[in-house]
Amino acid sequence: MEKCKRCGENRVGLERYCANCGWDVTKNKTNLVGRWLSGGGCLLALSPIAIAILTTPIGGNMFSTGGDGGGTALFLLIFTLPLGAVASILGLILWLSNRTK
Ligand SMILES: [Zn+2]
Repeated sequence: MEKCKRCGENRVGLERYCANCGWDVTKNKTNLVGRWLSGGGCLLALSPIAIAILTTPIGGNMFSTGGDGGGTALFLLIFTLPLGAVASILGLILWLSNRTK
């Protein structure tokens, strides 16, 4: 049994709307997934940049791959950027389509 996210009323079956307040529970859920997906996609896409900054010693070159920088992490962008972009776009579509419906 699930609880309504808006009013906390227990939901008896698989009905779409909360019997107590009329909140569209399914809409809320997809909306949330979309938001997480878009946020996670952005984080995934940009994570190598954070890794590069964090692994570069002070005074080192972030773009250097010669051992004194975190440049090797930037190569991960080749994989994470498209994946993250696709995830965040999918998430945005989910989010926005459920908002305007
Ligand atoms: Zn409710």
